[in-house]
Amino acid sequence: VLLAGLLLALIVASVSWLLFSLRLRPGKEILLGIKRNEFHVVYQPLIEAATGRVYGLEALLRWTHPVTGPIPPDAFITYAESQNMIVPLTRHLFRLVAQDARLLCCHLPSGATMGLNIAPGHLSASGFRQDVNEWIASMPPAHFNYVFEITERTMVAGQKAAAVFDWLHEQQITIAIDDFGTGHSALIYLEKFSFDYLKIDRGFVQSIGMETVTSPVLDAVLTLARKLNLKTVAEGVETEEQAAWLIKRGVTHMQGYLFSRPLPPEQLIQYLQKQQAE
Ligand code: C2E
Ligand code: CA
Ligand code: CA
Ligand code: CA
Repeated sequence: VLLAGLLLALIVASVSWLLFSLRLRPGKEILLGIKRNEFHVVYQPLIEAATGRVYGLEALLRWTHPVTGPIPPDAFITYAESQNMIVPLTRHLFRLVAQDARLLCCHLPSGATMGLNIAPGHLSASGFRQDVNEWIASMPPAHFNYVFEITERTMVAGQKAAAVFDWLHEQQITIAIDDFGTGHSALIYLEKFSFDYLKIDRGFVQSIGMETVTSPVLDAVLTLARKLNLKTVAEGVETEEQAAWLIKRGVTHMQGYLFSRPLPPEQLIQYLQKQQAE
């Protein structure tokens, strides 16, 4: 009993110490993770609907924590944002992508897109333009077309966001509006800002073939995108049926498990080589 009591006290003590130290060092886990090289990037191919060929990639960050194991990006991105850590984390993403790009670029045609998710907090940070310039300088020259994926949340910033978007366009960086259809009053932003791509949220794509009200909405969104001269990327395409429906409605690009999961560079290269052989 004494031993069990001691053991229990020890467990309670170490758990509370852990909680205490986490509270004492908010966000430090992220910096430590960067230092210890716990982050890596996986890449998901985007497929051009007209040709079925790989058009480009989306870079997605991964964190394997030494204690808890893999942490879902939705969770650690939200955490990083809340702890003011999104800027160092995105700088790290830039570094990792630049490293991988040297390996990847010779397996992709010149002009392939490289899409990065940019959090609103970084876009409005003072060092953003310098970070972007340094990143571009560190990438293989004149190979990729860059796409910054930005969610609708960012547009709330209004005038300031518009200036950053203009600057990005001057740097030849195109802009994709991400998770389209999940935010508020989305349509108004399409007219207000100049985007290049509209990424249709997976939720929409999943409703294809089901008797829900979403398909007619998706239909209308695609028509509107065409009128506004926007390229459209359907996210989360998992079935042939969804792909066929989307192609018929004029979607220009697709991304999803039907084609490939997000892959680490070595596996992605294998996938690309297989595609080329076909
Ligand atoms: P997202 O930008 O909408 O990324 C697409 C998500 O859909 C990815 O989840 C991808 O793995 C997943 N996905 C792709 N195809 C399919 C499919 O066919 N079926 C299903 N069920 N899922 C599919 P992931 O990698 O877990 O990322 C989640 C979110 O975390 C991303 O959503 C993005 O908002 C955020 N995120 C990831 N990496 C970064 C990053 O480097 N920076 C920032 N700011 N956010 C990131
Ligand atoms: Ca995205
Ligand atoms: Ca998305
Ligand atoms: Ca998302």
